Amino acid sequence: MKREVHKIKNMVAVIIAAAILILSVIGYITDTLGSIREFLFPKAIESENSYVEMLDVGQGDSILLYSGGKAALIDTGIKSYADDIADTLENRGISTLDLLIISHNHSDHMGGIVPLTKQFKIKTLLIPDLEKTDERTDKMTTAVENVKAKGGKSVTAEKGMNFTVGDFDITVIGAYYDEKDENDRSIIVKAKIGKWKFLFTGDAQDPAEKRLMADNADIKCDVLKVGHHGSMYGTSEEFLEKCSPSFAMISCGKGNRYSHPHDVVLLRLQAAGVKYFRTDTSGAVRFTATEKEILVGFGK
Ligand SMILES: [Zn+2]
Repeated sequence: MKREVHKIKNMVAVIIAAAILILSVIGYITDTLGSIREFLFPKAIESENSYVEMLDVGQGDSILLYSGGKAALIDTGIKSYADDIADTLENRGISTLDLLIISHNHSDHMGGIVPLTKQFKIKTLLIPDLEKTDERTDKMTTAVENVKAKGGKSVTAEKGMNFTVGDFDITVIGAYYDEKDENDRSIIVKAKIGKWKFLFTGDAQDPAEKRLMADNADIKCDVLKVGHHGSMYGTSEEFLEKCSPSFAMISCGKGNRYSHPHDVVLLRLQAAGVKYFRTDTSGAVRFTATEKEILVGFGK
C-alpha cells in the first residue's frame, strides 16, 4: 500500500514536471513568434479594450483607434461611405470622437467630413494647413464650423504635437506643407499603445518618406499603414527597412482604377518579411493590442 502511494506520488511529480516543461515551451514559442493570431472579427470579443481598425471604405482611408470608450478617427473616406462610417461608430457606442485627423485635403480622405462632423461631436479636429493646399477648401471650412458649433476645436497640425486618446499616445511626426504634391503634405502620425507602435502615413510617397528619414523621425513601428494605398511611388525599400514593421495594412477598393496596391510594393513588403492585410481582399482589418501580442482580425 505504501509503495502504491509512493508510485502515485512519483507519477504526479512526473506529470507536473512534464506540464511545466510543455507550458514553458509553449510560452517560449508564443514569445518568439511574437505577436500574431488571426480571427474573423465579427466573432471578436466585445470586451476588447483597445484596437486599431482600418475600416473598409473602398478606395480611400478611414482608420478607427479605439481605447476604453475613447476614439480617434484618421480620415473619413469618400463621401458615399460616410453613412457606413457613422453606422460603425454608432454600433461601437461612439458618439464623440476625441480626435479626428484629416491627413490631407483629398476627397478619398476627407470626403465624409461634412456629414460626420454634423452628426458626431469632435473634440479636436486636426487638419493640414489649408493655406498650403491645392484643393478647394469649402468642405474643410464647413467641417471646422460644424466642429466649433458642437463645442470642439480645430487645430492645424505641426510636427511634435501630441494627443492622448484612451491608452493611445498619438504624435505628429511629419507635416511637410512645402512639398509639391498634395499627397506628400499628408499629416504623418505615430500612435503608441503599451509597447506597440503604429505608423500612419496618409498618402505620403517617396519625397515625404525621404524627409522623415532625413529628419530622423521616429518611424520604427510594429504596424505600418502603407502610404497612398500601396502606390509604387512610396514605401521604398529603405523606408521599410527603417520602419521595420511586422505587419502592414493597405486600404484600397476592389478593382480600383489605379491598380492599387501595386505589385512592386507587395513584393517589397514580402521581401522585408512584412505580413500585410488589404481591405479589398479581407474587408476591414483590426489590430487588437494586448500586453503580449497583437491580434489581427479581418472580415466584414
Ligand atoms: Zn488617398
